[in-house]
Amino acid sequence: MKRSLEKFVKAVALSGTAIVAVLAARVLIAGQPQSGAGKMSTETEPVPALTPYVEAHTHFDDKDPEGSVRSALAALGRQNASKIFFLTLPDTFDRSGSFDAEVMLPTAKKYPDKLAVLGGGGSLNPMIMKSVATGDAGPEVQKKFRERAEELLREGVVGFGEMTAEHFDGATPYQYAPADHPLFLLLADIAAQHGVPIDLHMEAVPEAMPLPAGLKSPPNPPELHANIAAFERLLSHNPRARIIWAHAGSDGTGFRTPDLCRRLLLAHPNLYMEIKADPLTHGKNYPLADGKIKPEWLKLFEDFPDRFIIGTDQHYPEPKDQQQRWQEIVLLFNQLPADLRRKIGTENIAHIYGGPSASSAKGGKAL
Ligand SMILES: [Zn+2]
Ligand SMILES: [Zn+2]
Repeated sequence: MKRSLEKFVKAVALSGTAIVAVLAARVLIAGQPQSGAGKMSTETEPVPALTPYVEAHTHFDDKDPEGSVRSALAALGRQNASKIFFLTLPDTFDRSGSFDAEVMLPTAKKYPDKLAVLGGGGSLNPMIMKSVATGDAGPEVQKKFRERAEELLREGVVGFGEMTAEHFDGATPYQYAPADHPLFLLLADIAAQHGVPIDLHMEAVPEAMPLPAGLKSPPNPPELHANIAAFERLLSHNPRARIIWAHAGSDGTGFRTPDLCRRLLLAHPNLYMEIKADPLTHGKNYPLADGKIKPEWLKLFEDFPDRFIIGTDQHYPEPKDQQQRWQEIVLLFNQLPADLRRKIGTENIAHIYGGPSASSAKGGKAL
């Protein structure tokens, strides 16, 4: 699995330059005002990425894994994405209809060079939420948690996600867990041991604060717990555990600023971030203004070129008659300098998903 990923990343890097000119021409045509009958069709035509990228954070319809896979495979060419990662939703045991990676793995595994699956959102995450509620994180709970995590790995997940430490009510119920909860620390150890990352959704709350305006309570609580200090303890707990903080650019509290991202990236070499920009719900600290990357975000990407990947939170099949999340990020991606596009698009995925970290390889060559 790891070798095929390495080969895949190299192939993407090689093929990227060959098709860039063709795609650049297409983008130019799509972006130019057209006259006459062609106008409507060119305006709505999707704009693909200038160079290939791995889409590292999407979701699927658990009732229709085949349809989700068909839709994602069809989207690859349209987007110039080279691979799509499916994640399970961060869920609780309270919601009926929760599911985990087993729903998607058999179908996605038929396309190992194009699709990958992260798991645990529907089982490990609920175990953490339950442990928070009961206060029991004892040896028996930890044993079951480890067994489930290792079962997912045996089944073929490439990482743990989508996990959450602070998530507003939506498709799944409101969820909070301390980011340094014993089961999160254990997950970091398991992730480090197996060379796979953790994909974490966590609204940024540096200090306890009232629920941001515009969100309803209930179902959300009136007060949010502080979480950044706990998150830093998780990051420091096992520096070999690669942790991806999802949704940079899609901020629900106002505190996921480029400055906070910068401080944490500087302090924690095992921290990575996925870039997301939802055209339908900008939230706070949106990375684009009038379609252009804001300078403070561009500077952050340039200062930490090895730490960002693309994770748009796109759903498959694509929701009908609305702007797609992937498109907004591709428009951002296309504004990046070519070397940064290459890193954020494909190379960083190889570091994050490529097996044991350099420091754990004991002189062996890490991917
Ligand atoms: Zn999320
Ligand atoms: Zn997500």
